[in-house]
Parts: sequence; structure tokens; C-alpha cells
Amino acid sequence: MNIYISKHAGYCFGVKNAVETASEILENSNDMPIYSLGPLIHNPQVVDKLGKDGLKVLSKIQGIDKGKIIIRAHGVPKSVQKEIESLKLSLIDTTCPFVKAVHEKVNKYNEMGYKIVIIGDKNHPEVIGINGWCNNEGIIVNTEEEAIGIEYYNKLCIVSQTTNTLEKFEKLSNILASKGDEVKVFNTICNATNLRQNACEELAKKVDAMVVIGGYNSSNTNKLVEISKKHCKNVYHIEISEELPLQDITKFNTIGITAGASTPDWIIKEVVDTMNNINDNEIMEAIENSLIDINKGDIVQGKIIYVTENEVMVNINYKSDGIIDREELSNDPDVRPKDLFNEGDDIEVYVVSLDDGEGNVVLSVRRLKIIKNWEELKKSYEKKEKVECKVLTDVKGGLSVLVNDIKGFMPASQISVKYVDDLSAYKGKTLTAKLIDFDKDRKRVILSSKVVEQEELERQREELWSKLEVGSLIDGQVERLTNFGAFVDIGGLDGLIHISDLSWHRIGHPSEVVNEGDKIQVQVLDFNREKNRISLGLKQILPKPWDLFIENRKIGDVTSGKVVNILDFGAFVRLEEGVDGLVHISQISKEHIKKPSEKLEIGQEVMVKIIDINEEEKRISLSMREVEEDVEEEKIENQDIDVLIEDIIEDK
Ligand code: SF4
Repeated sequence: MNIYISKHAGYCFGVKNAVETASEILENSNDMPIYSLGPLIHNPQVVDKLGKDGLKVLSKIQGIDKGKIIIRAHGVPKSVQKEIESLKLSLIDTTCPFVKAVHEKVNKYNEMGYKIVIIGDKNHPEVIGINGWCNNEGIIVNTEEEAIGIEYYNKLCIVSQTTNTLEKFEKLSNILASKGDEVKVFNTICNATNLRQNACEELAKKVDAMVVIGGYNSSNTNKLVEISKKHCKNVYHIEISEELPLQDITKFNTIGITAGASTPDWIIKEVVDTMNNINDNEIMEAIENSLIDINKGDIVQGKIIYVTENEVMVNINYKSDGIIDREELSNDPDVRPKDLFNEGDDIEVYVVSLDDGEGNVVLSVRRLKIIKNWEELKKSYEKKEKVECKVLTDVKGGLSVLVNDIKGFMPASQISVKYVDDLSAYKGKTLTAKLIDFDKDRKRVILSSKVVEQEELERQREELWSKLEVGSLIDGQVERLTNFGAFVDIGGLDGLIHISDLSWHRIGHPSEVVNEGDKIQVQVLDFNREKNRISLGLKQILPKPWDLFIENRKIGDVTSGKVVNILDFGAFVRLEEGVDGLVHISQISKEHIKKPSEKLEIGQEVMVKIIDINEEEKRISLSMREVEEDVEEEKIENQDIDVLIEDIIEDK
């Protein structure tokens, strides 16, 4: 194995200065508290070491009245610097000169009226610090979309986080260049970053694998990982030597090493030493340690080594590889291994036995699928979840169904809330059901689609109850007739139309108005959720007989009617169902009568003339006498005409 270390790796100028300054101050602290505002650098091992030497990490300055505060290489906003100064604390400023130069640029151009745009990560302390030098009014962009999305300004000043890649800076600054009349672009990526990234790229192109050493939250280290991945297939990001993936890296002939700006030399050295000291025994040990122990019946992960017409060979990280025969791949005998899998695929398998006689582990995908199917069914049963099942055929007492590729049974009584007459009609259908009994050991899977229907009906009922409003109109179907009314299904709930609410006129039985099965619209008259009672009305949505009558009739109209009541002062005549009029005794006949019964009897059909309509009191006055008089008058007129015609004939 050949190891190459990047020409520019590890501490940069700014970080080195910050760490050395801190170490020196700690050495000469004389028990004076020494603080850093935030972790001094993005390397947990170095921060730990400095912590042991007495460096305390602050997240805010408030509450500190004594000691020295180190500003780290990332720098801080102007306001924070001023605050430290105002507290009369001793300030040790290790802000990197490259970062300071950006602060000055931003401060100057902001005062000159330029809108500042910072290309970088808005959460990175360096970017937060830079923005603090233009009153936190800078625009921070980190992606092409963000750059495209910014507004147009007269004057723009563009700077970069010092650790950006050149490629990203150029891409975004090109977009931003069109966002203002006067655009100043400053490439503020520091020289150390440029050198490190270029050296990393150069090395990554040459080697089989790259090891990038540095803090996981270090921005510049992550950029090195990004660059390495672009040019090398195998990249490992580690913080310390113990994280080296020994088993993996021993496969490679050439390995490149680079490190972020916060990685001290001693960590790089440890990594290089560890790699140099790997000998064959250690490799074997590392490999042995990484091998898993398996047993018959285990479910393990693996990677496909190759696929043939009849089998699939799998590396399961065991001392011998596993083999899946074609018939153990699927329940479908026609399926070919190559239809399902490719070399390099990750795969989960069931261990059938540890040795097939030729040293290979026998594996199965088909059996794993069955196990998983049972597990899923168990989960559905426990969670009372709905499942889809396909009806295979009707059997004695119910249906044989397939659910999750497992056979189950649905008793006839559990098929539907309605009576099921013909079980064979369900063959081939897919039903939504729930498991009502489950026992994997006894292979017992009992389903019910009826419970799903019941739940749905219950849901609909609840919804209906919540929507019911007195006075609202609703569609329904007549379910059942009784002597006292009609029961109507209004979508899962039954309501009653009392016989008196079926029609405006008196009826003897509901069947005079509706029949079972009729689809009708009804009005909600009243309901009581607790008593489960809904009163409906049909007549309420029909025009009232009185309204209909006065719309079509007027005073002077002659019509027929039936005598329905006879009193001393007159008789009531029914003109239409629900509309009666009074013929006063004086209006019954031209002749003088003492009692209406002298001329009338109940049920008698009579001709009447409407002589008055009192809409307010809903009263109609009728006259039989006027009809009589009109008839006589007409007769006389007809006689006069006869006479006149005869006269004319005689004159001739
Ligand atoms: S990466 Fe560059 S800007 Fe940042 S501290 Fe190091 S030298 Fe300074």
C-alpha cells in the first residue's frame, strides 16, 4: 500500500496562529480565566486538549467580568468586538488576517452604499461575523437558486466565505454579476484554502482512495471531502486514526491523505502511522473481527457478488459466501434470477442452512418474504389495520381469500352488513377487510369485511349527525312503512316521517303517499342525538293547499265541491283537499230556508261561486244561491235571443 500526503494539508496560517496564541496565553495565565468565544477551531480533539489546559468555551459574553477573551480565527461581528471592549475585558484577537480583510472590505463598501452579498453558509461563524460588519444587512447566498432569487440593486459588493471552493464562488458570482448596475466582485477565498483544495484535487485524481482528516463540522474539511468525491470513487472522512476503516483501505494500492485547516499535525501523523503499521496479521484480524456470526433462521444483509441463470451468489460478511437457488428466489417458477437482481445489489436474505455441502451458506429470499408477510399480517392484526384480500373461491361457510400472499378465511357472516345470498358472486373480487383472528402457529387467519363496512357506516352516521340541521333538506330512501308513518334512510341514519307530516291533507295510511324504496327529498324537522331520533317531513317541502288554491282561483269563479259539515248557520264545502269554504245559510238557496239541512246533506256534490277570499284569516265565502241566479239569468237571456230570432224570421 502506497500512502501519499497532500502537499497542503493540516493547520493553515490562521488556525495555527489562533492555537499557538491560545496555548501561550494559557501557559502564562497566572490563574486568570481564559475564554474563547465559541470553540477556538472546528476540531474537537484540539478543543478538548485546550480545555484540559484551562481554556473555557463561552457561548455569550454576558456575565463575564474578569479574564481574557480570545476571538477565534473566524472573527466576530463588529458589535461583539465593541461589547467585549466596553466590558473592559482583555481581548485577544486571533481573527485571521484574511478574514479581517473581508471585514474591512464589507465595512467600507457598506458605508459607500453598496448592498453586500456574501457567498457562504449563513450558519457558519465566519459568515455571521462578516455580516456583522455591514450591520447584519448583507444577503447571504449559498446556492444557485438563492443567487437567482435576489433582487436587483444599483450597487452590489460580492465577497466570499474564505473557505469556499473556487468553482462555487465563480458560478454564483457570475449569476450575481447581473443583479446590479455597478457590481464589485471580490474573490476573498484565502490563499491557504486555494492551495489546499488544488492539492487535494490533484491527489484525488491519482489515487485509489482518499482519506480526509478533520472535524465533521469543519466547513473547509467538508469542502475537501466534496472535492475528493468528485475525483475519486473511495473517500473516507475521519476525525482520528481510530476511525480508519482498516478492512476497506487495505484493498487499495494507493491512498491519498489530506486534512482540513483545523487538523493538527499530530492527528495526521497518527493516521499515517496507523496505516503504515498495518501488517498482514492485523489485516486478517480486522477482517475476522468484521465478520458476522450467523445461525440457521437468521435474517442477514448482503451484497450480490454475481447472478447466473440458476443462482445468485451473495457476500453476507460471513466466512463463506451464501447461495440462493432459483427456486428460493420467488414463488413464481418462471422468474429468472437476472430478472430480479444485479451484481452489486444490496439484499436481505434468510439463512436456510450454514453449509450446502460445498461450503456455501444456503439462503432464501422466498422464505424471507413469507416471514415478512406473516410479520406484516401480525402487525395489521395488532393494530387493527385494514388489509386488501383477494377472494380465491367460495368454500363451505364462507370465502377462501389470499391476503399478503397468505391464505385466510372469511366466514359468510363476516362478508357484509347485508345478507349475502350468493357466495360465488365474490370469486375474484378484492375486499377491504380486517383480521378478526390471527394465529401464525396454527396458520389461522380469519378476516371480516363486514367490520370495515360497519366502521364506514358508523363514520358516515357520525358525519351525518354532525351535519344535521333543523330545516335542512336531505335526500333519502323510504325503508319501511308503518301505520303511524314512514321510516326513511338518509345515508346511514333512519328518520321518521310521521303520517301527519306526509301530506297536507288527511290520509289513512302512509302508502297513500309513498312506497318502500321510493327516493325522496325530506326536510329535517327535529332531531335528538341522545335518543337517536330524527323527525322528518315531506309535506313541508310541498306547496300548501291554501297557497296553491288562491294562486289559481279568484272571486267570481264557480267551482264544484263536496259538503263536509253542516251547521245551523251554514255548510262547509270542501273545494280541494285542505281547502274548505263556508256557504252561509243565506247563500244556500234563493228560497228562504230555516236550516241548511233542508237543502243539503253531507257528501253532496254542489256547485258554488267564490264570493270572498280573506287571505289573512284563510277564509273563503261561497254562494250556491248566486250560481242558481246566474243560471236563471242565463236562461232568460237565451229565451230573449230565441224571441228575437223568431221576430226576425216573421218580419221577413
Ligand atoms: S482558512 Fe484561510 S482564512 Fe481561514 S483561518 Fe485559515 S488562513 Fe485564515
